[in-house]
Amino acid sequence: MTSLRFKMVENAIFKKAKEPLAPTERITEYYAKNVFDDKKMKNHLSPQDYVLVQQAIEQGKPLNSEIAEIVAAAMLNWAKEMGATHYTHWFQPLTGGTAEKHDAFFEFNKDGEAIERFSGKLLMQQEPDASSFPNGGIRNTFEARGYSAWDPSSPAFVVDTTLCIPTIFISYTGESLDYKTPLLRTIEAVDSAATTICKYFDDKVNNVVSFLGWEQEYFLLDENLWAGRPDLMITGRTLLGHESAKNQQLEDHYFGAIPTRVIAFMKDLEFECWKLGIPVKTRHNEAAPNQFELAPIYETMNLANDHNQLLMSVMKRVARRHCFRILLHEKPFKGVNGSGKHCNWSLGTNTGVNLIGPAKTDIGNLQFFAFLVNIMKAVHKHNAVIKASIASATNLHRLGAAEAPPSIISIFMGTQISAILNGIETGEVTQKITFNDKNCVAIEGISHMPQLFLDNTDRNRTSPFAFTGNRFEFRAVGSSSNCAGSMIVILSALAEQLIDFDKDIKANMAGGIDSTTAIYSTIQKYITECKDIIFDGNGYSEEWKEEAGKRGIDRESSVPLIIDNYLSDSSVELFTKLGVMSKSELESRAEVSWETFTKKIQIESRVLADMAINHILPVASRYQNTLLDKLYKLKTLFAEDKYLSLASVDLEAVEVISNHIFEIQRLTNEMVDGRIFANACLDERSKAIAYNDRVFPFLDRIRFHIDSLELIIDNEIWPLPKYRELLFIR
Ligand code: ADP
Ligand code: MG
Repeated sequence: MTSLRFKMVENAIFKKAKEPLAPTERITEYYAKNVFDDKKMKNHLSPQDYVLVQQAIEQGKPLNSEIAEIVAAAMLNWAKEMGATHYTHWFQPLTGGTAEKHDAFFEFNKDGEAIERFSGKLLMQQEPDASSFPNGGIRNTFEARGYSAWDPSSPAFVVDTTLCIPTIFISYTGESLDYKTPLLRTIEAVDSAATTICKYFDDKVNNVVSFLGWEQEYFLLDENLWAGRPDLMITGRTLLGHESAKNQQLEDHYFGAIPTRVIAFMKDLEFECWKLGIPVKTRHNEAAPNQFELAPIYETMNLANDHNQLLMSVMKRVARRHCFRILLHEKPFKGVNGSGKHCNWSLGTNTGVNLIGPAKTDIGNLQFFAFLVNIMKAVHKHNAVIKASIASATNLHRLGAAEAPPSIISIFMGTQISAILNGIETGEVTQKITFNDKNCVAIEGISHMPQLFLDNTDRNRTSPFAFTGNRFEFRAVGSSSNCAGSMIVILSALAEQLIDFDKDIKANMAGGIDSTTAIYSTIQKYITECKDIIFDGNGYSEEWKEEAGKRGIDRESSVPLIIDNYLSDSSVELFTKLGVMSKSELESRAEVSWETFTKKIQIESRVLADMAINHILPVASRYQNTLLDKLYKLKTLFAEDKYLSLASVDLEAVEVISNHIFEIQRLTNEMVDGRIFANACLDERSKAIAYNDRVFPFLDRIRFHIDSLELIIDNEIWPLPKYRELLFIR
């Protein structure tokens, strides 16, 4: 091994676990300590002011500047107690991740003395000089102003010495430049549409809340080894590297014992999360070596999403304390599983009913099936744009690989639900459905349906969109993405569908039937119309791809073309009708998605070319030279016949190495030509298509030759940490 590589590996293997900073106190003593939550607001406001603020937040009324002034003063007092010196508006631009610009509380008063101040105006709104955030053409530089505005539904929190205020981010002309704005609009749209439907069942329902529980998968790498790989450092994934002899084939990592260095990291991470009020609950090893998962207790959608965004930055920070690097890339290593972010979501009423779960009464179960069928119909109609919401240059490697849902959106309901749906469709209301399970229940048709048992829902890990007993789990979301991207599309599609459902029920009732019968017959019709979206088989199989095509479900796998679906007639109608996004906001989102796709592939292609030419080829030539040297000496020592027999293996190796070197050079040149062509494209869409078609394929083709060389060249001189060295934290 090169002395440098050996040092890196040795250093990584013998590193001891760091003592976690996690305290000895119980979690109940410090949970949400860093959050300006309801309790703290109560402590820092007068009782009258507290009531005013609560009313404004709970009833979703716009907060006036007087209330903002009161809250700002209280926040400042609390933040000072927490040792904060700065504040920031914390928002979620379309680049992914979060953005923040810190300003000190410090100011001069009129006598020139230093004071600390935080006003209602600063709390409510800021004008970050944001011309360099992606905006997809919405904001030209001459009107480069963007505004961030306080979202009072998500509490402020302190990180280190900065008070962070969750905000939306919009342009001068009022268009959203972030994920939070359309998410909040979607949550309102689905609340209103779902409440209308719930009122048919219970007139005490006044609002419907969306819930989200994410599962965050990630890889951990020792930071010394990470630093030895330019591809990981710059692109977040390995662009080359031959598979390790042992990877995940023994299936010994999933749920296995967590290595001590990792458990120390996890303890600190959880401690930081709990202080920030992120209710993390579950931790475990994932399928691939060095891959782990963290999941919280679910929360209301907007808050849960803020928490996931916050988690991703906390993870990065805590990992460094433990000499690790976090990889949130969807596919850091070839040949082992990639990382997703399952989005578990459900809807609940103010009366405490989960609408995405079985109920205790017949009528409750009719309501449950009404929501289930409307979700099916929404996903059926908008499956292509739902797919657009998860399509990216990084998630592209995961989809369709034998580990993650394919690039086809279908729903898995499980045998029990599917059987009931069939029964409803055929009208066999008295049909008995028997289950082999010990919890078996006989379903006497929808109007007499007894309670279902949660544990009867089977699991299908190959489905992108699965019913899991009391929620849906959308599994196609990538580990690095913002959950809002998908939840905006899914919940908007559902809101639109529920509005249509209401119209159809009313039309049926106009014929003189009661609402329950009208609901039942509308569901019946819907099942026939959209049952093609249900697929309970193996989503990884080739047959499914074919079958999906026959059913008219979108099968496009080119990311730039999938992104087109944001701008299809049905999408534009969906989002504009609900007021979630205007046509120009959709156009900007598509532009940003294409632009990001292009840039990611462009960077990967540059990094791979550098590594091929500057790291790999010199070493290949060096090793080849050693062989040539030996051959030369053999030739001078032995007669022709003897020489040929002694030299045959090395002669062949020299030739094979030459071929790989030649191919790497040739393909790298062709890839550069592809880039030159793509860069000359004038619009973002054609550029992304050119990068997809003319640059992207070279990454794997070049890699093939490099990985072949890795198997031939002397281990001593190979310059980069290998998969077997990177992937096993001891
Ligand atoms: P699994 O890996 O079996 O899917 P996990 O425990 O890893 O289960 O994750 C389940 C996630 O689903 C958690 O984040 C949990 O809070 C969330 N969840 C559970 N019930 C609901 C619900 N009704 N609505 C939304 N999310 C839920
Ligand atoms: Mg799950």
